[in-house]
Amino acid sequence: MSSTEALNHVVSVAEANADYVDAEGTFPTAAVDALRRSGLLGLVLPEEIGGLGAGPRDLVDVVGTLAAACGSTAMIYLMHTAATVCVAAAPPPGAPELLSVMASGEALGTLAFSERGSRSHFWAPVSAGVLSDDGNAVKLRADKSWVTSADYADVYVVSAGSTSGVAGEVDLFALPKSVDGLSVVAPFTGMGLRGNASSPMTIDATLPVTARLGAEAAGFGLLMETVLPWFNLGNAAVSLGLASAAYSAAVSHVSGARLEHRDEALSALPTIRAQIARMGTTLAAQRAYLHSAAASVSAPNEETLNHVLGVKASANDAALAITESAMRVCGGAAFSKHLPIERVFRDARAGAVMAPTADVLYDFYGKAATGLPLF
Ligand SMILES: Cc1cc2nc3c(=O)[nH]c(=O)nc-3n(C[C@H](O)[C@H](O)[C@H](O)COP(=O)(O)OP(=O)(O)OC[C@H]3O[C@@H](n4cnc5c(N)ncnc54)[C@H](O)[C@@H]3O)c2cc1C
Repeated sequence: MSSTEALNHVVSVAEANADYVDAEGTFPTAAVDALRRSGLLGLVLPEEIGGLGAGPRDLVDVVGTLAAACGSTAMIYLMHTAATVCVAAAPPPGAPELLSVMASGEALGTLAFSERGSRSHFWAPVSAGVLSDDGNAVKLRADKSWVTSADYADVYVVSAGSTSGVAGEVDLFALPKSVDGLSVVAPFTGMGLRGNASSPMTIDATLPVTARLGAEAAGFGLLMETVLPWFNLGNAAVSLGLASAAYSAAVSHVSGARLEHRDEALSALPTIRAQIARMGTTLAAQRAYLHSAAASVSAPNEETLNHVLGVKASANDAALAITESAMRVCGGAAFSKHLPIERVFRDARAGAVMAPTADVLYDFYGKAATGLPLF
C-alpha cells in the first residue's frame, strides 16, 4: 500500500469514528490502530530505521488531513511525532531499538511536559531529577498536568529540572509505559478533542540514567530546537485542518439549505456569502503561511524563528475565527449538531491554549522582532 493509500485508509476510519469518539469522550483506538499499521507513525523518521524520511511539508499535509477527519486522532498523531523527533535527535543509550519501534507503529509515543506548577511554561519544569550517588540512576518525581494518550501511549518523553541542579536547566527522558511509578491521576474530560485522553499523570520513578535523551542539561535545547519547530507546525496544521472541515461543511450547508418561500438557498444572502469569503480567504492565507513556515524549517534561514513562533499562533486564531463564522452562517443547523461544525468548533478551541500558547507566542514573536531575548 502506498503512503497515500495508507493515509486515505486511516482517514476513512478516523472519519467514521469521529462523532462517536467525541460523544463518548473515548480514545480513537480504531484510527490509532490504523495509524500503527500505516507506516505513518514513522513519517519523519529516517529510512534507515524504518521511517519514511519525509519532511515538515509532508507532516503538515498529513496532520491537516487527519484533523479534518478527526481532531483527536490528529492531535494524538502529532504528539507521537513530536516524541519521535525528540528521540531521533538524541536517542537514549539504554533503549537502542526505541526509534525503530516508534517508526514501525509498535510503540505510540507522547510528550509529558506541562506541569501543575509551571502550567503552560513547559520550558520551566518545577520537578527535578536527582542523580544516584553512583551516577547510574535518576530519581524522578513530577506532577504532569496534561499528557495526551495517557495510559494508551507506550513511550512517554518526560521533562524535568536537570540533575545538574542548575536553575533553568532541563533534562528529557524516554520512559516506557512499563516503568514502575507512572500513573494516570484522573480521566480526561475536555470541551473538545475529547478522544485525546489528555489526563494528568504523576511520575514517581527511578530510571537508569541511560533513559535520558542527550547529555545532562541538554533538554532545554531539545525543547527549543527540535520539539518546538515540529510541534508548532503540526499544531498549526491541526488548527487549519479543523478550520477547513468547518469551511467545507459551511459551504455545503449554505449552498444546499433553502428558504422555500423565497425559492433560494442561504447562499443567496450577501451577508452569508461575505462570511464564506472571509473564511475561505483566511484559510488560504494561513495555508500559504504554514507551507512557507514548513519550507523554512526544512531549509532554515534568518526568517525561520519568526515563522516557528508566528505560524502556530496565527493558525490557532484563524481556526477560532473560521469555526466561529461557520457556526454563525449555519445557524441552528450547526448549533443542534446536524452538522459536524460544532465538534470542530469545540476541537479548535484547544490549539490556542496548548503550549506554547498563542499569547505566549505573540509575546515571543514581538520580542524576536524587536531584538529582545526570548527568555
Ligand atoms: C487538548 C490538550 C492536550 C494537551 N496535551 C498535552 C500533552 O500531551 N503534553 C503536555 O505536556 N501538555 C499538553 N497540554 C497542555 C498544554 O500544552 C498547556 O500546558 C495547557 O493547556 C496550559 O493550560 P494552563 O491552564 O496551565 O495555562 P496557564 O499557563 O494557566 O495559562 C492561562 C493563560 O495565561 C496566558 N499566559 C501564560 N503565560 C503567559 C505569558 N508569559 N504571556 C502571555 N500570556 C501568558 C496563557 O496564554 C493562557 O491564556 C494539552 C492541553 C490541551 C488543551
